[in-house]
Amino acid sequence: MVMKIRVEGLSDTPVVLSDRVKATDFPALAGLEERGECRFLEPLEVNFSVEKEYDHVRVHGRVATKVGLACSRCLAEYETDLVATFTIFYSKASKMPVEEEVSLSEGDLIAASYDGEYIDFTSEIEEQVLLEIPFKPLCREDCKGLCVKCGADLNSGECGCDRSGTGFTFSALKNFTVKR
Ligand SMILES: [Zn+2]
Ligand SMILES: [Zn+2]
Repeated sequence: MVMKIRVEGLSDTPVVLSDRVKATDFPALAGLEERGECRFLEPLEVNFSVEKEYDHVRVHGRVATKVGLACSRCLAEYETDLVATFTIFYSKASKMPVEEEVSLSEGDLIAASYDGEYIDFTSEIEEQVLLEIPFKPLCREDCKGLCVKCGADLNSGECGCDRSGTGFTFSALKNFTVKR
């Protein structure tokens, strides 16, 4: 996996890096799988455009993959596309990035630093994928969840339980564990 680039030789003509890398080559992403929080169904499609701009390096990045997540309401696993797009300004570690040089109007702007001859994108790729994983995954916006009385999946029909008075509380889900 070569997700780094040599700074010397970069110019204002963007260099494009494309690669397909295994998500589990990244320790934090492998950790997600081990804890059962997410399954990576496809390799990460990584596309970076790298150019030198004044004394910093500007990187436009896109990382896309497909993941399996467990719905936080009905616990069913569903598949979803995950796409992260971002811009990073890398400054040499010795000098702190000067805020004024960076236009803060750009969305998702990240300031980072590099040290030495190469910029290594590994940790940024990992970080960007982690940010895209939903904290409370939902198989669909209006997922009805599970019956608090019998545990039936209400998306596949009404179970007939009288749930008046119980209210629908997510804490009831604590009694269930994800089957895998
Ligand atoms: Zn659901
Ligand atoms: Zn029920």
